[in-house]
Amino acid sequence: MIPVIDGHNDALLRAWRSGESLRERGDDGHLDVPRMREGGIAAGFFAIYVPEDDYASDPRANVVATDDGWEVPFDDPVPIERASPVAHELAAIADRDLMLVRTIADLEHCVAGDEPGAILHLEGAEPIEPGLDNLDGWIERGLRSLGIVWSRPNAFACGVPFQYPGAPDMGPGLTDAGRDLVRACNERGVMLDLAHLNERGFFDVASLSEAPLVVSHAAAHALAPMPRNLTDAELDAVGDSGGLVGVVFDTVMTRSDGELVFDTALDVIAGHIEYIAERIGLDHVALGSDFDGCFPPAALDDASKMQALLGVLGWDDDELAKLAHGNWLRVLRATWRD
Ligand code: ZN
Repeated sequence: MIPVIDGHNDALLRAWRSGESLRERGDDGHLDVPRMREGGIAAGFFAIYVPEDDYASDPRANVVATDDGWEVPFDDPVPIERASPVAHELAAIADRDLMLVRTIADLEHCVAGDEPGAILHLEGAEPIEPGLDNLDGWIERGLRSLGIVWSRPNAFACGVPFQYPGAPDMGPGLTDAGRDLVRACNERGVMLDLAHLNERGFFDVASLSEAPLVVSHAAAHALAPMPRNLTDAELDAVGDSGGLVGVVFDTVMTRSDGELVFDTALDVIAGHIEYIAERIGLDHVALGSDFDGCFPPAALDDASKMQALLGVLGWDDDELAKLAHGNWLRVLRATWRD
């Protein structure tokens, strides 16, 4: 098995809602520690994501038909009074069930085949005070990656909605607090994640940040025209910065027709990997499953099946090693401060 560093999962949210332990192989769900071992996932970015409500609603219930496709309206903004306590509950699950990766050395141990590790990631900066007073507390707690927005506006920037077809050129760029957040994360060696960000926010970060640009879970807009996916200009900026894109496993986000089809062939996801590798180089493409947060195809519908995707690419072992973990290691070495 080729060890994988996976760019994004929502297993903490699932465990928060269900009360299950991620140390046990659950009856359902995409990702837990036993499934990580079975699929060769050495480490993953575990999202702390605060939903609008406490209930596991099916996101498909919110889909609205449009003239030429569909859209999901924005959630209401989440105030910090809700975001902060829920985020701490999610982080407590990570402390309880997972080995936290805090340093490059920790990550190298994971890739060498020790205990699977969890990189603590904030998906949407709602739990961070706009004056950044509690950012250092979160870093102390283990936070190593921060997504400025989820698909909704917050104090720092504006995310893109789920929509088909559509493009990310909507909404304003970073706020003043957002610019401060980018500088503060650069100074402290916290990885910034541009997934879910709109186009103006993306290029604001690109011009401001000193770190390689990272989009943890997305796909190529040229193949699947959705605001969540990256335009060629955005891909080029990621490549120029020495960063990477983690390709998402969602069928809806990777299919050209924007449909949810569970028997979608793995070639569809592989097509995004190949497109990005051809456009900006195979040093700049990685994996970002979004397990427990998306609708992967049946052939890849839990973490134990991770290696199946590598098998359809027809790449040699050195190329697969870059895709699976080498590119993440390079980018995090250039970003984190141990
Ligand atoms: Zn996401």
